[in-house]
Amino acid sequence: MACSASVLLLLIPANLLPFLTTSIFGVSRQSILASSAGAMWTDGWPLLALMIGLFVVVLPLLRFALLTAVLGCLRMGVRPHWLGRGFRWANFLQQWAMLDVFLVGLWVAYARLSATISVEVGVGAICFIAAAALSLAARATLNQGHIWRLIAPDSDPPASGAVCSCLACDFTVPATHEGLPCPRCGDRICAREKDTLGRTIALTLAGILLYIPANILPIATLPIGLHPTQYNILQGVIDLGQAGLFGLALLVFTASFAIPMLKLVGLGYCVMSVLRRSRRRLILKTRIYRIVEEIGRWSMVDPFVIACFVPVMQYNAVIFGRAESAAPAFACVVVVTMIAARAFDPRLMWDAALSAIPAPRRFA
Ligand SMILES: [Zn+2]
Repeated sequence: MACSASVLLLLIPANLLPFLTTSIFGVSRQSILASSAGAMWTDGWPLLALMIGLFVVVLPLLRFALLTAVLGCLRMGVRPHWLGRGFRWANFLQQWAMLDVFLVGLWVAYARLSATISVEVGVGAICFIAAAALSLAARATLNQGHIWRLIAPDSDPPASGAVCSCLACDFTVPATHEGLPCPRCGDRICAREKDTLGRTIALTLAGILLYIPANILPIATLPIGLHPTQYNILQGVIDLGQAGLFGLALLVFTASFAIPMLKLVGLGYCVMSVLRRSRRRLILKTRIYRIVEEIGRWSMVDPFVIACFVPVMQYNAVIFGRAESAAPAFACVVVVTMIAARAFDPRLMWDAALSAIPAPRRFA
């Protein structure tokens, strides 16, 4: 609760106070956190502006306001009726509130900018760095199972008959409760959601299609050595390597090239397992699915790097920074594959494997 409340408080100055200041030949440009979304909007990239505004400004505020309210109520021994729903939404927003990912983006942008011009980290950015670090601490120290049991104790499994478990809070109810809201968190209880496989396949295919322009087209224009230079994802990695920033080059390569590719391959592997009713390596496939679901959001680093430098790199026709056509395509790959991973139910792989076993052996 201390971490969560601190993040919430720090987000206020982080959003209002100066973020980055650049200066060159005695002229300077200053940004605040929301300038990133504003600059994308004025440059004609409304989708990017919307994503940055949501993932960096709105959803982090919402997540930590909800989390602080829920933990505060439990701390004071109050149990309002919205507690379960509030905690479920706070958990859901965890992967969409990307303070930690933006922090890495800010680090890469700072390293890139400071190689060309003078950059100053403002008070807003310092508050943001502290908030992002504390958001990681809040996540690491939060014991979700414990909080759920404080909201309402776990139910005893019924003595007979089939049971269903809530996917959001693990509350167990008799199978006859299917289709009704969970008594603890309000999520709809269902043994298996309909059409999850179809949705995952459609979204994964969309991700593969978008991955091609995202890697071929230029992602941004940045003055490298004070010349406007367009670069795509891999050229950006090479550029960082040539500047001697090998650690950052490896980081951007992993986040922007390797992770989206691994996500698409991993999701495809899991989907094929269901379609072929494979009985092999189910534990490995379930682990791969968990990794894909967890690492997805870290690919937003590259769009966030661009978001950091665009508002403070508007000097003249030569020294300017701008997102290019691959940037929205790339951001869509990240979001679409995150939704695809979310839509997939790994239990389908086990269902399909079970259905491949002949009936007499299944119950042996
Ligand atoms: Zn529940």
